[in-house]
This record gives sequence, structure tokens and C-alpha cells, in this order.
Amino acid sequence: MNDFRDSAIQKILDSNEIYIASHVNPDGDNIGSIIALGLALKKLNKTIKVIKTDEIPSDYLFLPNIDMIQPYEITNGNLFIVLDCGDIDRLGKYKSLVSKDNTIINIDHHVSNTRFGTFNIIDDKAAATGELVYDLIVDLGIEIDKDMATCLYTAISTDTGSFMYDSVTDKTHEIIAALIRTGIDKSEINIELYQSRSIERTNLFIDSFSTLKTFYDDKIAVVRVTQEMLKKANAKMEDTEGIISFIRDINCVEVACLLKENKEHEIKVSLRSKKFVDVSRICSAFNGGGHIRAAGCTIYDNIDNAENLIVEQIINMW
Ligand code: AMP
Ligand code: MN
Ligand code: MN
Repeated sequence: MNDFRDSAIQKILDSNEIYIASHVNPDGDNIGSIIALGLALKKLNKTIKVIKTDEIPSDYLFLPNIDMIQPYEITNGNLFIVLDCGDIDRLGKYKSLVSKDNTIINIDHHVSNTRFGTFNIIDDKAAATGELVYDLIVDLGIEIDKDMATCLYTAISTDTGSFMYDSVTDKTHEIIAALIRTGIDKSEINIELYQSRSIERTNLFIDSFSTLKTFYDDKIAVVRVTQEMLKKANAKMEDTEGIISFIRDINCVEVACLLKENKEHEIKVSLRSKKFVDVSRICSAFNGGGHIRAAGCTIYDNIDNAENLIVEQIINMW
């Protein structure tokens, strides 16, 4: 499953300067994992540069050492650790770092991972990249402190719907137990993550829920967020976080879809399923990917056409 994990660990130990890359539209798993690994490798007295690929959503600004993430200039001939990225497009403006001049350690849990690294540590059974980072830190012999644990707890909690998804295993809970034993304030973390929604975001939710349409005997539910809706609610696209899980949680729904209008002809599609539909396969048909129960893609068309295309694809692959 893991191509040359030991060699990857040796490469880390042998390198004095290491870059760690985040992905576009970074989520809790990505941000938590990059900071935790950055803090851990600093303990080995290495120069660590955690690269900012995209804006950090305000939800994660409470994390300790969030300022470690900076828009570094990258130079060739370096070691890059890429976390939680299924393919190189997810690196956005930094995708050129994946070149033969650099050593890439690709650590990820997406079923659709393209194994673009020099070394690939891929486990699609891991509930979050945070679990793989936890194992790596332990294998490097580094003691996990409270700041690292806060970041890893955030990574794993946010990628598992607060430990609810099928992807959660006994190992997930064992890792979380070890993180709690470091003395983290999990009550405070949970309030920051799940009980801090702004009025603007709430108004956007109300607006988005009112666009609800269902298809296929109410088993498919679709909502949207347009630029006009963002303007009206004085909200940002990151404020859509949480909309899709609410729609998935409708009793008859198997597949929930959120259409986010980035631009007039650029629609970011998010899919979630509950019991049996493989949404990663559906998104692959539009050059996207992800996990069986959570995936995404971008459709370059207007929002009504994007809705028709994705609903048709979901039904065809049912
Ligand atoms: P999202 O719906 O954007 O929250 O993404 C759900 C999951 O699918 C995450 O694990 C993402 O990493 C993955 N994902 C989202 N968009 C894409 C894409 N265009 N290509 C590959 N994976 C994606
Ligand atoms: Mn992610
Ligand atoms: Mn993840």
C-alpha cells in the first residue's frame, strides 16, 4: 500500500530544509495536518516552510501557530511534503513544484489519489490525513505536544463529521484518545469548530436551503449558492461549510449536492452520500474525485446546466 515509506522517513531525517504544501480551498484536515507536521519537524531542528496555497477559512484561524502558513517562494531541488491532496491540480498555483527536480512525499487518504509523489504514503482506509500524520510523527520518534494535538484533533474531527462517518475506526478513536491525553482543550476546539457560526453565514444557510430541489423520488437533493446570494447575505464562499451536511441529513436523501457558483461559468460541485452511492466515481466523470461518501468536481458551465449534468450523472451511476 505504501511505496517506500521507510525511504520517505529517511529522506525527511536527512533533509535540513523541508517545504510542506497545502491544497486549494483548504479544509480542517489539510490545515490541521500541515501545521501539526510542521511543528513536529521543527522539533528535529529543521527549517520548515509551510506553504499557503489558498486563503485560510476563518473557521481555522484559532489554531495554534496558524501563522506558520505563508506564501513562500519555492525553489527547485527541495523536499516537499504534500498533505491531503488527491492530485496535483489540488496544489493550485504551486502545482509546478511536482517536478523531477524535487523530491515529493505524497501523504494522503483519497481513494482517487494519483500517486504523483516520489514517495507515496497513501491509505484510503484512513479517516483523515491527520491519522497518517499522527503515525508519521510517532514513527519519527517525536513527542506530540498540545499544539500538535489540537491541530490533529481538528484534522480528524472535521474530516469525519465529528467522528460519525463510516471511515471512523477503532484506530481513529485510539489516536483521538492519545491526543486528548496531551491535555488539549477539546471543549474549546469544538466550540470554535461547531458552535461559532456567524449571523452572515446563518443568513446564507437560510437562503441556500430555500433553493432546495429534490430528484429521483427525493433520494437526490440539490441546493445552490450563487454570487448574488453571497452578496445579499454579506458572506463568503467559505461560509457554505455545513450546508451540504444539513441537506444530506434529510431522512430520504442518499445523495446531497451543493452547487457553488465561483463565477458565471465555473461551478464547484460538492457531493455527499449516506449509505451506498460512490460519489467519488461520479465526480471522476467531471475530472474531480475525493472519497466514497464525500467528493467534488468543477463544471465549467452555467449553474442550471451544471445542475442538470450532475443530476443526470448521479442517476446514471446509481
Ligand atoms: P468538498 O466537497 O470540496 O468539501 O470536497 C469533498 C472531498 O472531495 C474532499 O476530500 C476533497 O479533497 C475532494 N475533492 C473536492 N473537489 C475535488 C476535485 N476537483 N478533485 C479531486 N478531489 C476533490
Ligand atoms: Mn482536504
Ligand atoms: Mn482529508
